[in-house]
Amino acid sequence: MNNTLETTAAIGVLPVGMVPEIAPKITATHISGYLNLPATVLGPADIPEAAFDSLRLQYDAGRVLDIFESRDFGDVRKVVAVLDIDLFVPIFTHVFGEARQGGNVALVSLYRLGKHPNGSTPASPLLHERTAKVSLHELGHLFGLFHCEDDRCLMHFSGGLEALDRLPLHFCRYCLRYFNEAVANGK
Ligand SMILES: [Zn+2]
Ligand SMILES: [Zn+2]
Repeated sequence: MNNTLETTAAIGVLPVGMVPEIAPKITATHISGYLNLPATVLGPADIPEAAFDSLRLQYDAGRVLDIFESRDFGDVRKVVAVLDIDLFVPIFTHVFGEARQGGNVALVSLYRLGKHPNGSTPASPLLHERTAKVSLHELGHLFGLFHCEDDRCLMHFSGGLEALDRLPLHFCRYCLRYFNEAVANGK
């Protein structure tokens, strides 16, 4: 990986804190493979401790987004941050990922993806699949996609691991068309 590649990549995948090296690589591979967007793994960032909520003992996803959105990541169009911290938004106990409609930064947390409801750890292919699903879903929001009614579409809202595992690893034709148009229009 060299600087030229990094500056021409559309999507930067940002490892934050201690994440397994494979996680951002898999995310970048799925983004470039499925969405046809050049993606590269950026240099690692520290966990934004200012976003820690000492009452909930979790990280406020909105504050994490604010912190990363104020940073300069060079020429990449969008950044997908891969973290291993427990994220929440005020209305939910936790979230797997977070992104703002049309924003520049998406968050994907491995923290809850790497556990079965009974506390055991899933085999890594399942963890990788979940990570890829959340990454592509949040990236969809960055390119302006809303939640989709179709439960066979990756943009369908999933509130838990079981729902996430039922989702396919692709957008429905309408969402995919919208996504490709947004990419082409330079959103
Ligand atoms: Zn969503
Ligand atoms: Zn859809």
